[in-house]
Amino acid sequence: MIDSKIPEGPLIEKWNNYKAKAKLVNPANRKKLNIIVVGTGLAGASCAASLAEQGYNIQSFCFQDSARRAHSVAAQGGVNAAKNYKNDGDSTYRMFYDTIKGGDFRSREANVYRLAECSAALIDHAVAQGVPFAREYAGYLNNRSFGGVQVSRTFYARGQTGQQLLLGAYQGLLRQVSLGKVALHTRHEMLELVVIDGKAKGIIARNLETGELERHVADAVVLASGGYGKVYYLSTLAMGCNSSAIWRAHKKGAYMAGVSWIQFHPTSLPQHGENQSKLTLMSESLRNDGRIWVPKKAQDDRNPNTIPEDERDYYLERKYPSFGNLAPRDISSRAAKEQIDAGHGVGPMKNAIYLDFSAAINAQGKDNIEAKYSNLFAMYEKITGINAYKEPMLISPSAHFTMGGLWVDYELTTSIPGLFALGEANFADHGANRLGANSLLQACVDGYFIAPYTIPNYLAGELNAPKLNINHPAFDEAENTVRNQLDKFLNSNGTLSTDYFHKKIGRLLYEKCGLSRSKEKLEEALNEIQLLKASFEKDLLITGDDTLNSELEKAGRIADYIELAELMCHDALQREESCGAHFREEHQTPDGEAVRNDEDFCYVSAWEWKGKDQQPELHKEPLVFESVELAVRSYK
Ligand SMILES: Cc1cc2nc3c(=O)[nH]c(=O)nc-3n(C[C@H](O)[C@H](O)[C@H](O)COP(=O)(O)OP(=O)(O)OC[C@H]3O[C@@H](n4cnc5c(N)ncnc54)[C@H](O)[C@@H]3O)c2cc1C
Repeated sequence: MIDSKIPEGPLIEKWNNYKAKAKLVNPANRKKLNIIVVGTGLAGASCAASLAEQGYNIQSFCFQDSARRAHSVAAQGGVNAAKNYKNDGDSTYRMFYDTIKGGDFRSREANVYRLAECSAALIDHAVAQGVPFAREYAGYLNNRSFGGVQVSRTFYARGQTGQQLLLGAYQGLLRQVSLGKVALHTRHEMLELVVIDGKAKGIIARNLETGELERHVADAVVLASGGYGKVYYLSTLAMGCNSSAIWRAHKKGAYMAGVSWIQFHPTSLPQHGENQSKLTLMSESLRNDGRIWVPKKAQDDRNPNTIPEDERDYYLERKYPSFGNLAPRDISSRAAKEQIDAGHGVGPMKNAIYLDFSAAINAQGKDNIEAKYSNLFAMYEKITGINAYKEPMLISPSAHFTMGGLWVDYELTTSIPGLFALGEANFADHGANRLGANSLLQACVDGYFIAPYTIPNYLAGELNAPKLNINHPAFDEAENTVRNQLDKFLNSNGTLSTDYFHKKIGRLLYEKCGLSRSKEKLEEALNEIQLLKASFEKDLLITGDDTLNSELEKAGRIADYIELAELMCHDALQREESCGAHFREEHQTPDGEAVRNDEDFCYVSAWEWKGKDQQPELHKEPLVFESVELAVRSYK
């Protein structure tokens, strides 16, 4: 049985109880302790800066050429906080409840409550750093709504919330770099975790400029390496985003949880051709004012502006009258797919739906809509050539966010002592579906507020542990594993590129383990993955040498994606229920709503790696609900 280490006491006191009792490390001893932090996004940068400020020595890693190019930079819409500035009924409890319900009752109460509890302080923290949140005329911070809630709790900085928050975290990080407390290793990729006597003690990283393999030893290792939505190839994530850090930790003993729970964002730009490598996200904030519709008549090719009102189907407003266009992402994306599959898709590839601002422009005036979204409208026009003030946007669901990730307990420790996972890399807070704007929050809260208590609590017990160095045989072994894999890729003599395999695995997952799943499709996927694995072994071709070589980098990531995809299918197959983003076609109501099975599946599925070509082992963490009643999730 796995232990989630939820503190004793009533829900609202758990985090305070934990903090009151957490062990501390004396300032004089902190400088003797080293921590590796993989990732410089919001989770990694905030954690590294906060721990360095406390006095620990940090080695910080990212694969980009600058820490501030971590993918958090791409987040547009906003960050949630229960501050109730609008006096519209918000509270910590309501945010907690919305998040639990949004995740379809598949997350841990204690973690979610802590997320909501820490949210208000995060906004104050970011404002103090100088994050330029949008303000009302009077100077107060402004809010808007995101899907799955009926209050306005989303703080935003135009369409650049992630970038502005990241600049705040980055400045904190660079302050510590200049003080000598953080050593920053950009263009370095962690390729192996080093575990000694059952504890995480270091990593093997490859210098992506020179190809050199480096050994780094530490007293604790933090993975804040982001999400793995790019496993679908076409997604809202950048090409470089990958699962390798967490996957390699998984193969060293860290469990993966909720691994098939992938969020498809309802307002991405649709795919427009076969040679595309990325889909562009249009922020969910647009759903505050945009109305979603499709023509009632299938295969309707008319210009949208000429289609009369009574020939349009505002299907979200029709099906979910209380939440309407702000229905949560899983529900909105699935509803869009239903319309597209039924022949109501629009646009050149008939793979889109309309997001229409005409009613909002009529009601509020173009100036007001411009004030809220002009950069998003400008971006849309730049990409599509369409002026969305005059014509509805074309949007479509796209793979976006991974609720799954490394299993962590309340302290954000993985199943390997000394290995922590933060931000999107862990599975912790979002259950089977994340509410919009809760992820920037989670990444920041994990790094600024939680890890600075839980990591010292662990390190306090490591002070007297023997000091290790990079000559330990575990480092030889880990480096050899990496070396052998790189050599194998460099000696490959097939004919197919990494992208060929990436597209294959992405398409396969999209069709069989995507917006909807079934036993039949998942079993087919598992068989096809075996064939793909075999083909990858013999048909891959990597050109170039072991220096700067992006194909070589990608090869390792694709190898990991193929194994990850297999685990995703196992996870989705084993969970015989529909919950959140996991929609099993066998488990739905006659009108197509998800049917959850609390009796048999009210647990977190944490998977253990058992070796190449072995079945993974399932560990169940029961989910106990003491503060909310399990209810059928309805947004009608
Ligand atoms: C287009 C887009 C828009 C979004 N908008 C919002 C929004 O409005 N609100 C919201 O709440 N959420 C949003 N999200 C989600 C949110 O941005 C992310 O979940 C969050 O920023 C993740 O932060 P992170 O620190 O966990 O990871 P990231 O910011 O992805 O950082 C990962 C870091 O890990 C490093 N890394 C990864 N692997 C390795 C390795 N093997 N070796 C070395 N370094 C490694 C990377 O270099 C990077 O520094 C959006 C996501 C996308 C894609």
